[in-house]
Amino acid sequence: MTDKPRSAFQSFLRAFDGPLTRELVRSPGRFGLGQVPTKLVPDRTTTAVCGFCSTGCGLELHLREGQAINLSPTHDYPVNLGMACPKGWEALTPLDAPDRATVPLLRNESDKLVPTTWPVALETFTTRMKAILEEHGPGSVAFISTGQICVEEMAILGAFAKFGMGVIHGDGNTRQCMATSVVAYKQTFGFDAPPFTYADFEESDVLVFVGANPCIAHPILWERVVRNKRAPAIVVLDPRRTETAMAATHHLPLAPKSDLVLLYALANELVKRGKVDAAFVEAHTRDFETFAAHVADYDLERASVASGLSIAALDELVNLIGSGKRVSFWWTMGVNQSHEGVRTAQAIIALALMTGNIGKPGTGANSITGQCNAMGSRLFSNTTNLLGGRDFTSESDRNDVARILSIDPARIPSEPSLAYDQIIEGIHRGKIKALWVIATNPAHSWMNQNDTRELLGKLDFLVVQDMYTTTETAVLADLVLPAAGWGEKDGTLINSERRIGLVKRVRRAPGQALADFHIVRLLAEAWGVGPMFSEWSTPEAVFGILRELSRGRPCDITGIAGYEMLDRHGGIQWPFAEGSSAAPASERRLFEDGEFFTTDKRARFIADQPRPMGEPVDATYPLLLLTGRGSSAQWHTGTRTNKSSLLRSLAPKEDYVEIHPDDAARRGVHANDLVEVRSKRGKLRAIAYVTRIVQPGQVFISMHSAATNRLTFPSVDPHSRQPSYKASAVEIERVG
Ligand code: SF4
Repeated sequence: MTDKPRSAFQSFLRAFDGPLTRELVRSPGRFGLGQVPTKLVPDRTTTAVCGFCSTGCGLELHLREGQAINLSPTHDYPVNLGMACPKGWEALTPLDAPDRATVPLLRNESDKLVPTTWPVALETFTTRMKAILEEHGPGSVAFISTGQICVEEMAILGAFAKFGMGVIHGDGNTRQCMATSVVAYKQTFGFDAPPFTYADFEESDVLVFVGANPCIAHPILWERVVRNKRAPAIVVLDPRRTETAMAATHHLPLAPKSDLVLLYALANELVKRGKVDAAFVEAHTRDFETFAAHVADYDLERASVASGLSIAALDELVNLIGSGKRVSFWWTMGVNQSHEGVRTAQAIIALALMTGNIGKPGTGANSITGQCNAMGSRLFSNTTNLLGGRDFTSESDRNDVARILSIDPARIPSEPSLAYDQIIEGIHRGKIKALWVIATNPAHSWMNQNDTRELLGKLDFLVVQDMYTTTETAVLADLVLPAAGWGEKDGTLINSERRIGLVKRVRRAPGQALADFHIVRLLAEAWGVGPMFSEWSTPEAVFGILRELSRGRPCDITGIAGYEMLDRHGGIQWPFAEGSSAAPASERRLFEDGEFFTTDKRARFIADQPRPMGEPVDATYPLLLLTGRGSSAQWHTGTRTNKSSLLRSLAPKEDYVEIHPDDAARRGVHANDLVEVRSKRGKLRAIAYVTRIVQPGQVFISMHSAATNRLTFPSVDPHSRQPSYKASAVEIERVG
């Protein structure tokens, strides 16, 4: 052992002799080990919000002897009104999976992960991370957080990593789904602020979905659309004839990545037809003239050529938007996962602003979030943004946070974190030596997967904190920290409409698995910074700290007294400031007063030149690969949903590729043939699903397949650094 690790080890021993770690050894029950939840009365029903997607449905958990044995959707929860999708109904099943991580695992000299104890795991984390930081500096260690854990957990994780460990670089898997919307909103509204409330689905006359398939991705939100009694026009802009497109009144199957040209042409046409809400634009926005001049180059003919849509179809869409009294725009990954996603999202926002469709019932430029707590991550993960949506590069923001947390401002990094792709690149260049991955699975979900897996193998130290030992990332780890899952811990999640909902501990975590909250507290103590987090004693205490961090911010939640208040009102949307006259349970949308979060309170119009996609098709790879969600029974990499036989039975059993009949015939491919799909980066085998759901020249593979990202082209939006998963050139060949 060298001097440096020895010194780190000695300091660990001092830290190890701390109250928290001693308590873990002496009273494991305090950390949820080996006991039933204490707060709950046996044989009763309690409530919690679902921990899969950002819809944030309310669930009733039915208990026997303090343990949840079943669940049903909550009838009076304002989000789901008694409905749940298959994932929600099966939310308890993944907790019982046999591959749960039940003890810490450490890679031994024979390169095998073997069980170890919590004290050894804490010691290993601390000594190895400290040794790497001492030798290579604060930029040599990074962490990848998640939108899947509670707000309080991601806050303490980000605070410990950045203020305690001294790590600069930390990002989250929300980079893969919401970064584009975050940047688009910040630049136009002055804060990352999705403006809508779910009631807007029911109150629109015209709903325009861009690159969104709520029937599959957010089925309960689609149910809210179905409840709309205004006989709305429902327009879907999507290259695929998705389930939502089939159910819509209008499907415009635009060519992939022609959306920006199309949206600019719509804006130009609205200007030409006098459909601009001049009073709103004049009173509440900036830079409209520049925007109008920019889009003047885009007419319907140009949009028709780019998108492959008829001028008549585009003309009808202009009329719908221009004449609709309440027009709402909704987007998800078809926009966000694009090489020019931020500008595309801002073009959607511009349509809402210029027609005055914002801040009123049934309107808005509305990005639907992905993960159950992506919104919490955006505000409080302390990764890209400093806690509370602040800026690491702002001295006053750093001082603000330091004052509220009573820490030395020098502990707060003054440089922003590298983004996810830059962290991966940092590993590639040998700059990042250690990575701590929490509740996410980059070896499956990151683009150009072969490269990613090889890179993770090059790290000096890979720590994975997860519920399961079998994820594609966990099996590569040097150290696995066993984590409790949804239902096994307390905390809050923030959904797409900014509603903060409660999750509760209604199950005992298996073996020695601990809530992420407890894991981070133990690590903080082992690191020697336990006193910094002495106030962060329980999830609810952390909620109180976050409340203070939100004071005076657009996301002010100082009016929420605590968990009991959240429970009583069925969740509460931010903002809810102290002294607010709004009813806590009321559904609220932002910008009703026309005031935005910019310094002059005006929203911005922002436009740019469209750019070609990173990897166009060519003679060798003539088909464009689209990826996306496959079914409402599957969630992301399947880490949890694959544990349910019921959910597996509702999803395709084998990997499949959708291919148009013309493309299939040209290749001698018939329905259910085994085919090989190749890109420049890798290949996979799948069953051919010959269908007109995809257009000629395009194929579709679901994101849930572990092999999909062998194919994807690694490119990111330059503003949000969100990966573009939906535009890779491939070829298909029949193999059986
Ligand atoms: Fe859970 Fe989302 Fe399904 Fe609702 S729609 S039950 S939040 S997975």
